[in-house]
Amino acid sequence: MNRRCFIAALAASPCALAQQRDAARITVTGLEVFEVKVNRRGNWVLARLQSSAGITGIGDASHGRPSDAVTIKFMRAFFERLRGRGIFEMERLRKECEPEVLANSNAAATALSALEQCLWDIAGQALGVPCYALFGGLLHRRVRNYANINRSTDDRTPEGFASMAAKAVAAGLDAVKLAPFDGMPRQGDAAAIEKFTRRGIECAAAVRKAIGPKVDLLIDGHNHFDLEGGLELARRMEPFNLFWLEEVVPPKPLENLAAINRAAKMPTAGGEGIYGIKGFLPYVTARAVDIVMPDVKYCGGMLELKKIASLAEAAGLLVAPHGPASPVGNMAAAHVCATMPNFQILEYSFGEIPWREELVEPPERLERGHLVLPDRPGLGLRLNDSAVKRYAAQ
Ligand SMILES: [Mg+2]
Repeated sequence: MNRRCFIAALAASPCALAQQRDAARITVTGLEVFEVKVNRRGNWVLARLQSSAGITGIGDASHGRPSDAVTIKFMRAFFERLRGRGIFEMERLRKECEPEVLANSNAAATALSALEQCLWDIAGQALGVPCYALFGGLLHRRVRNYANINRSTDDRTPEGFASMAAKAVAAGLDAVKLAPFDGMPRQGDAAAIEKFTRRGIECAAAVRKAIGPKVDLLIDGHNHFDLEGGLELARRMEPFNLFWLEEVVPPKPLENLAAINRAAKMPTAGGEGIYGIKGFLPYVTARAVDIVMPDVKYCGGMLELKKIASLAEAAGLLVAPHGPASPVGNMAAAHVCATMPNFQILEYSFGEIPWREELVEPPERLERGHLVLPDRPGLGLRLNDSAVKRYAAQ
């Protein structure tokens, strides 16, 4: 805003209104894509849209399957549908990209979701309001995060998980998640499955001991069990007072998840890979879980996240968005979480790289495990271009 407009806005003159009217005329003009190197588990892919007003918006396109390369290909193709269009055309973008997304492509869903986040970031800045104001306004200024230590723990022993969990608690987080069954065979050799199961339970026990009884413990089964094994795991996890037990069996058939949800004494959670409100409808209707976990990067973006949260709210379910990725995706999800009556907790990937905070400006900061929503317009974050360059994937 120039000086003349600023003075005029103070006086609530038509100049401020003119600025808002102008926002409707801003169009999308360019796309930049950045890849930063994180660790052996994958890179982060970030999008930045440019607009005719010079305002840019950012979004997170990390961890699309089958690969970042396919995600980026979709993102560039979808951008061509956006080029020259208005910055408020989120629903049109969704409609036009859905054929590729519904052809079962997680990469296409990730590409769509990232561009959608960029649009909301630009829209918020153009209107001079934080994104949360566009999704119903703040119910929670502080958004509680849990530490996913699974991506940062290379030593996959009880001691290794316990050590990383202790670091997360020392950093101020009061909830910790691990997936201690990774590498387990999904079928076949019963003795091998039992060996992995017992080892995973030992990891959970070691983390519970390390974090003490007051910190919340979340266990992710990463779909490694069948129905019988999953039901038994829920019983064997009872001593650890879990905050939730996540996706012990594959997402289909839904009835298996629902059977575990009915039988488990602890809450169950899941749904991280599902696209869209229509994808979540059968999941919610079947009561597959107590807590739904849409990922702002996979589910269709910020508006779709809000729609899914509303569906869950109507069914009396809580929402805990999945998203162990970059500070950009976390903040995009947090803006929507801040407006949800049924928000529970947000995922934060703890300890992956020491430069996480500096990837954005101002640097990402958790206050005792909470993201504090900024008053700045849009997402309230910009990419730190020199950090993005420094840590670029080759
Ligand atoms: Mg999970």
